[in-house]
Amino acid sequence: MSRQLTFSDVAAQRTLSEMTVTTAVGDDTAPTTRAGLLDRARQHAATVAADHFPALPVERIDWEISERTQRTAGVTTYDPQTDEITISLTWDAYDSQGWEQFSETVRHELIHAWQYHEPGEADHGRTFVRWTDVLDTSQHCERFTAPKWWLVCEDCGGRTARYRRSKTVRNPEQYRCSKCGGSIRVKEGGGH
Ligand SMILES: [Zn+2]
Ligand SMILES: [Zn+2]
Repeated sequence: MSRQLTFSDVAAQRTLSEMTVTTAVGDDTAPTTRAGLLDRARQHAATVAADHFPALPVERIDWEISERTQRTAGVTTYDPQTDEITISLTWDAYDSQGWEQFSETVRHELIHAWQYHEPGEADHGRTFVRWTDVLDTSQHCERFTAPKWWLVCEDCGGRTARYRRSKTVRNPEQYRCSKCGGSIRVKEGGGH
């Protein structure tokens, strides 16, 4: 009862498995561009603010991406002259943490924005702490350290951050890209 696969069967199968991979990877719709990250952060902040900070004019917050290597994943600033609140997100932090973890930073900064707007003083004190559990974020501005090394796939260009001199960093030739099986090279971190 064996049936030989024709060429088009094989082609169809390959397309199918490629599609499965694409769907799996794109599943959480993690933004892949700076504009995408800004949109996603803005959207997330609007949802959270609608539930918890209804008086905060969240649509007036200025969002920007910082390309500088900042020490934190996000920074919120307030200009008392113009009443303008700016939330600056660090691209490198997002790039190595992924959206799920990075969204904590968005919520953390949103609490600061609310503090500027309402209690009028942004810190990590009492008015901050009452929100950390509710919003599932941390009291401390997360220190962000740029990864020391990147494992870069020669084929698909996928990058993975490494903070320690792990086995993969020492012997990249013994490892393969988990996405495409391509060979891996090690790139020094820092800068872009
Ligand atoms: Zn903070
Ligand atoms: Zn790859």
